[in-house]
Amino acid sequence: MDRKEALKIVKEQITEHRYEHTLGVMETAIQLAKRYGADEKKAELAAIFHDYAKFRPKEEMKSIIIEQKLDQRLLSFHSELWHAPVGAYLVQKEVGVGDLDILDAIRYHTSGRIDMTLLDKIVYLADYIEPGRHFPGVEEVRELAKTNLDMALIKAISNTVQFLMKKNQPIYPDTFDTYNDLVFQLK
Ligand code: GDP
Ligand code: FE
Ligand code: FE
Ligand code: FE
Repeated sequence: MDRKEALKIVKEQITEHRYEHTLGVMETAIQLAKRYGADEKKAELAAIFHDYAKFRPKEEMKSIIIEQKLDQRLLSFHSELWHAPVGAYLVQKEVGVGDLDILDAIRYHTSGRIDMTLLDKIVYLADYIEPGRHFPGVEEVRELAKTNLDMALIKAISNTVQFLMKKNQPIYPDTFDTYNDLVFQLK
């Protein structure tokens, strides 16, 4: 599938604001793929579809999590987490994307996972640092992403966890697992 077709499909699923964000993630993911030697085409498509399910009704996402036997723990955590695994499912089912690398990058773009692939990392980070993002700490992660993908990722996850904890929000275990896994692998 080419970029034009993919963008046309996703545009119908999301708001104008989210579409602008998606374009930023796409450009950033391609840049990171070039820099770190990932498949640029897969980075592009994963980025385009990463927030495909962002505006699906909660009830629909909940049904998919139950019926498709996705991680049932998701139901106890914030529904903001749901669009990533549900998105991977819907992008396969409705759009017909079959590439498992792309689907995994979509599935894990919010929580990360243990043993993230290069593509997973690129989409996670591109989502965090795309030019439309403005929040405390983003500039530091942008700088780190130029030289050290893993350090950038650790900082991004650390910022997210601290932000959630300041609001007394529960942290999905995969988020902690991802953080620990990256820190364990630091050399
Ligand atoms: P977006 O879809 O482009 O807005 O970005 P993401 O998919 O990365 O994140 C969606 C939301 O999930 C953000 O508001 C994060 O703060 C939140 N989030 C990320 N990790 C966790 C977590 O472990 N627990 C909870 N409760 N929320 C999280
Ligand atoms: Fe998202
Ligand atoms: Fe993210
Ligand atoms: Fe996003």
